[in-house]
Amino acid sequence: MAEINNFIKTIMQNDLNSGKVDAIATRFPPEPNAYLHIGHARAIITNFELAKAFSGTTNLRFDDTNPAKEDKEFVAGIIEDLAWLGYKPNNIFYGSDYFEETYEKAVLLIKKGLAYVDDLSQEEMSKYRGTIVEPGKNSPWRDRSVEENLELFEQMRDGKFKEGEKTLRAKIDMAHPNINMRDPAMYRILHIPHHRQGTKWCIYPMYDFAHPLQDSFEGITHSLCSLEYDNHRILYDWFIENCEMKHVPHQYEFGRLNITNTIMSKRYIRALVDSGKVMGYDDPRMPTLCGLRRRGYTPDSIRNFILSTGLSRVNSTVEAESLEEELRNDQKLLATRPNAIINPVKVVIDNYPEDKVEYLDCPNNQENPDLGNRQISFSKYVYIEREDFIEQKPNKKWKRWALDVEVRLMHAYFVKATSCEYDNDGNITLIHATYDPETRSGSGFDARKPNGNIHFVDASTAKAAEFRLFEPLMLDITEENKDLDFMERLNPNSLQILNGYVEESLANTVPGTHYQFIRNGYYVTDKDSSNEKLVFNRTCGLKSSFKL
Ligand code: ATP
Ligand code: MG
Repeated sequence: MAEINNFIKTIMQNDLNSGKVDAIATRFPPEPNAYLHIGHARAIITNFELAKAFSGTTNLRFDDTNPAKEDKEFVAGIIEDLAWLGYKPNNIFYGSDYFEETYEKAVLLIKKGLAYVDDLSQEEMSKYRGTIVEPGKNSPWRDRSVEENLELFEQMRDGKFKEGEKTLRAKIDMAHPNINMRDPAMYRILHIPHHRQGTKWCIYPMYDFAHPLQDSFEGITHSLCSLEYDNHRILYDWFIENCEMKHVPHQYEFGRLNITNTIMSKRYIRALVDSGKVMGYDDPRMPTLCGLRRRGYTPDSIRNFILSTGLSRVNSTVEAESLEEELRNDQKLLATRPNAIINPVKVVIDNYPEDKVEYLDCPNNQENPDLGNRQISFSKYVYIEREDFIEQKPNKKWKRWALDVEVRLMHAYFVKATSCEYDNDGNITLIHATYDPETRSGSGFDARKPNGNIHFVDASTAKAAEFRLFEPLMLDITEENKDLDFMERLNPNSLQILNGYVEESLANTVPGTHYQFIRNGYYVTDKDSSNEKLVFNRTCGLKSSFKL
């Protein structure tokens, strides 16, 4: 795997060299309000790989300070996704576990005259906040005495007020050029039970206040986050200093990762799931880690992809194609290469004995002999891909099958097509062929060359299978659709289901098994697959579909 190398690594190295820190401690702080997506993978990999590079530590910390949207289901999902990516946190902590200490730090700020209880409503507060070009206005409640503030804050905690009736705010500077410093809210009232704390609390700390304290409680040295927190850093430092935190962490920002044709925000992902337009958070078309896993992406392909995108202080948009390329690199030599026919047409070999079945030797992966060989069956009826056959050979470049043309059935015999049968719509239902017994693969026959080499699945042993093929969930942005809501830009062809066959060696395949289906693409067995009905997801094609 590629080594992590970026500007934050340099900062960490310098901090260790200068003695500013003794060891590196990072954390990944997801809010458990949805499943993780591939953008989060950048934050995960950056935190874990950087700490690992210096033999440091990384905590998983759930930023669960907003009970309105958070849920245990997401906590479990996040833990599972992290483990799947191959990362084991040194600790799993919850922001809510620090509610008591956080509350005490708020009391300290009140006592120092640096926090006050405000009666303004949320709308009034935003009116008072001012704009980038105009200073804000002090709240009429800003100069309450320390005693009154202490009393009111305790009453807030005791549930004496309704939601929105009171807010605890930091007393900083309503004319500060950075709006985040204009008396930001520290606590709000929410009469909502918490997924871990139950009804113990009805006041909840805001992210900007809680997060730096949590980092400090845990001894985090480098608090890494995406770029949108850049102008919150000053507030982060203000809380650390004024709360008299013993341990001083520092915040560093990096650019967010975006991927072409991919919705990468929890809000949109949730909306898609709620709309019922996808199979759930783990729909193989989703950019969630559970969706990518179900699609057949591997942890190594995701890690290598993320590392290949580099890291800087600029948000970046990467082509979805490069993730596919990493999957191909990862699975090329690892995956076995069985035969599957995703859009079948049946062939009868008229001169082959009726009840005979013979077995042919076949490598599991032509490029990796370590994966060994297997036997595949051959008999009078076989399935081939419909697109491998055409009645009249159109030109010399056609290296597949046609009437009166001879091709090799891979690992088997030369066959010549003699005639076709059709249904009422003119579709081919059966291809008649003859085979030449002298041409069995491995016999050294070289008297003539076949027109091509096509794969097949023997009908006498074939297992029926469903193949799910995917396109991006979102259409490309064009002049016509650029103003449409994202729900109206959904690609109507993002899921295509085909019914075909796989060779019998896949009869007992288990969900999550990766394959390269010969001449077709990379696939994985889906969780819907059972012995009665095999189901495979196409992860990606064999080659880049991108035109250079
Ligand atoms: P979203 O914007 O999708 O709702 P979020 O930032 O609110 O995501 P959190 O659970 O707070 O989600 O994210 C946890 C961490 O992951 C944060 O440190 C955040 O900066 C980081 N992160 C989220 N999305 C990306 C992304 N696309 N690229 C890089 N880092 C990200
Ligand atoms: Mg966030």
